[in-house]
Amino acid sequence: MKTNLLNYDAQGMTELFAQMGEKSFRARQVLRWVHHYGAQRFDQMTDLAKSLRIKLENEYDLPLPEIALDHTSIDGTRKWLIDVGQGNAIETVYIPESNRGTLCVSSQAGCAVNCRFCSTGHQGFNRNLTTAEIINQLWWANHALGGNQQDKKLITNVVMMGMGEPLLNYSQLLPALKIMLDDNAYGLSRRRVTVSTSGVVPMMDRLKDDCPVALAVSLHAPNDALRDELVPLNKKYPLRELMAACQRYLTKAPRDFITFEYVMLNGVNDSIKQAQELVKLVQDVPCKFNLIPFNPFPASGLTVSSRKQVHAFGEVLLEAGIVTTIRKTRGDDIDAACGQLAGQVKDRTSRDARMQEQPLVFTPYAKPEAADKKTSVVSFEQMQQQLAQLAKP
Ligand code: SF4
Repeated sequence: MKTNLLNYDAQGMTELFAQMGEKSFRARQVLRWVHHYGAQRFDQMTDLAKSLRIKLENEYDLPLPEIALDHTSIDGTRKWLIDVGQGNAIETVYIPESNRGTLCVSSQAGCAVNCRFCSTGHQGFNRNLTTAEIINQLWWANHALGGNQQDKKLITNVVMMGMGEPLLNYSQLLPALKIMLDDNAYGLSRRRVTVSTSGVVPMMDRLKDDCPVALAVSLHAPNDALRDELVPLNKKYPLRELMAACQRYLTKAPRDFITFEYVMLNGVNDSIKQAQELVKLVQDVPCKFNLIPFNPFPASGLTVSSRKQVHAFGEVLLEAGIVTTIRKTRGDDIDAACGQLAGQVKDRTSRDARMQEQPLVFTPYAKPEAADKKTSVVSFEQMQQQLAQLAKP
């Protein structure tokens, strides 16, 4: 079986080439061909000796991802569903804005953290992605968007905010981050690569020392009692430990603040009193807040905070001097929120059934409203047909 070269960052590639008796600059050349120029075959690497190209061809490969679905929203958001085998699918989302293009990348198929408001969490954990599967999302998006042409850098930012908890797949994440930052590959600055974590405290410390990129923390609650319910990992790493880890991270972070993500859940975590509690919680952590309108999905049992409530909540943070933004919803017509599309492909863990046995303490909630289908570029029926096809054994 051939070895997948996409698993290697510069250091790994150099060691691999040394074992072949090749100089280290050859490794850099190959890294550049693959990630900077988007080469798909070794015979495209014209500055390598023919004998080396043949050797690489015989022993290594550069597999493309299996694209199961490719949807573009009316607002330009583009989402790929990638088949990673054995009925597992992951999602990658490109979000174009006037001054940047952000790619949201997955790190695991499913997720074990099981946050109550998260569609991916509902699907349960299937497996960790390899470094190749993580970086292949960036390779593919770059290729599909036509970004390998030298003067065209469409992906300016990467956020590890897709499916999965990246810090629970650290050994595969780290080389992928290094490839993103490598000047011979994608050349992104540390400020433009963000790892989002639900609060895996020991691995936040590892990331700080190994590859301190920008850090976002999924907070979602101002106290342990509520966060234990919404983000079960909090029982293991409670808020006091999490806040201390954020402060330690900032000693090496490329930005001088932590971004706290806070999904707004109607009647659950969106009161003025909770906003005031939040201000106290983060008082020693330089930070900014990103308030996220909840993206309802079947079976969550949660509803969206009203626009008025989100603004009132944000005002409390702003008055306390905390930079606060409200995330725009993007790609609603293509289910661009994390986990929504893959969740329709397969529920491998019967988590829905388990959730019913263990209902939310905040119930009853109104059923989430059906997604607005009028603006779909791909009709809902078409998508369902494709998904049904995909889910066949
Ligand atoms: S929000 Fe993130 S950490 Fe929580 S279940 Fe979803 S993917 Fe996992």
